[in-house]
Order: sequence, then structure tokens, then C-alpha cells
Amino acid sequence: CGIVGYVGPRPSQDILLAGLARLEYRGYDSAGIAVIDESGDLGMRKKAGKLSVLRDSLGDATLAAGSTGIGHTRWATHGGPTDENAHPHLADDDKLAVIHNGIIENFAVLRDELLADGVAFLSETDTEVAAALLGREYRETGDLEKAFRNVVNRLEGAFTLLALHQDQPGLVVGARRNSPLVIGLGEGENFLGSDVAAFVEHTRNALAIGQDQIVSITPDAVTVTDFAGTPVEPEPFEVSWDA
Ligand code: GLU
Repeated sequence: CGIVGYVGPRPSQDILLAGLARLEYRGYDSAGIAVIDESGDLGMRKKAGKLSVLRDSLGDATLAAGSTGIGHTRWATHGGPTDENAHPHLADDDKLAVIHNGIIENFAVLRDELLADGVAFLSETDTEVAAALLGREYRETGDLEKAFRNVVNRLEGAFTLLALHQDQPGLVVGARRNSPLVIGLGEGENFLGSDVAAFVEHTRNALAIGQDQIVSITPDAVTVTDFAGTPVEPEPFEVSWDA
């Protein structure tokens, strides 16, 4: 439902929670965040219910003092609104986190393939199938961008997907098909959002991502390609003041 991603010098937890609060108007049933830090830890918390339930469960705690993170508000389509079904979903021994908007139409076929491969699932979501697939591809390639490209090419339906891996701090990758995703350009920091509300309090400089495109953000760089890996030039636009 709502998606936010951040890479930069600031602790990401508060930025993610504030971004999700800005996306609350869309409606949702669960919320969660994943944060990685430079020492190689991934912290994740997700809860059914309002953002306040997630905030209360975090209290004053910082999940990870990380400045790379992703956040999600879920509107359940596959599996009820439970803590387990909330996003992020983890894979690759909990080193990799994925969030998703939309519906992966061919998830049942992919899940059968992964089950035959010995993968155990913790949720009833279509999303966890994409996470597990990404985990398997990451183990084979050791490269989040390459793994991500291999995975999105196998997915059918509608998706905005974001992923991070604790072995590649300072990187968030995303993709969109039949579902929105925009880039927010900061100074030494960059954002992703399902809409500009996710980052409008930090920057008004945005880039549009086209249909069937993949994006990687680091603190200083943004690259966009098509699903085959060919670079494309994203379209800049300025977020209007009443956004
Ligand atoms: N299909 C996914 C799920 O049910 C994502 C739903 C959403 O767009 O929030 O978990």
C-alpha cells in the first residue's frame, strides 16, 4: 500500500516512520520497517494495526543505528492482517528484507518451485515468495542488483518492490510494474516512495520511474534501468508545494 526507502547519513528509523505517517491517508492494516547499519546488522519490526502500534512496540529503541532502510504500510490481499503477514519479509538467513505493493499473480507456481527447493515460508503472502526468490538469487550472484533483476523478470502482476541486504549497506533497490514508485533526490541522501508524500518534507526534487523499470539508490547516486538492465534516463519533476 505505502512504501518508503532511504539511504543517506541520517538514522533512517525516524525518517521511515515519518514517511509512513505521511502515507497513512491511503489506508492500511499493518506497518513495518527494516534498517541496516554499517556494522552489518539488519533490524526489522512489523506489526498488524496502526502505525502507532509499531511505534509503541519500538518505544525509545533504535532497531539498528542504520542509515539505510525501507518502510511499508500493508493493505492485505494474500493472507489476513497479522504480524507474520506484515512486511518486510526476510530471506537469505534474515540478511535481506523485501517490501511490496500489489499482487504477484504467479506466486503459487513460484512458491511450489521454492517449496520443492526446501524453502520454508512464515507467511501466507505472495510477497514472501518474491523475498525467497531474491534470497536464492542473492546467494547465487552475491549482487543485490543482479539478483533483483533476475527476480522481477520472473514476476507477473502488479508490483512495487523494494529490497536491501545487510552485506550491501547504503543501497536500496526497487522496481515497478503496474504500480507506482518515485525517486526523491536529496543532498547526499536519496529517497524512494510509492508517492511523493513519502519524502516531500525532505526534498521537492523528484524523478519519475517508468513502467517496468528498476532503480538503485545510494547516498550519492541514482541509477535506473529497464528490466533487461539497459540504462534509462528518468524524467525529473518538481513536487508542487501543495503536495
Ligand atoms: N499482496 C501483498 C500482501 O498481501 C501486498 C499488499 C499491499 O499492496 O499492501 O501482503
